[in-house]
Amino acid sequence: MGERGELGEKFEGSIGGSAFTGTGRPSRTFPQGRVCAEDGCDTRLSIYNEGRYCSRHEPQATPRMRGKKIA
Ligand SMILES: [Zn+2]
Repeated sequence: MGERGELGEKFEGSIGGSAFTGTGRPSRTFPQGRVCAEDGCDTRLSIYNEGRYCSRHEPQATPRMRGKKIA
């Protein structure tokens, strides 16, 4: 068959190719009024923050957000 393999490649390709390039794409915005998902943290998230956490709690795997370097 091989259908699954093709589908998987296609899926990964479209994700990596369009979602995280960060260049030439209009800014995506997110609903206002969201707060950090960390328990006990009620920091408001920016509408431009695609994550679920505030800058203090966001996972460190996140590649450069605003020129800020971690570690
Ligand atoms: Zn937080």
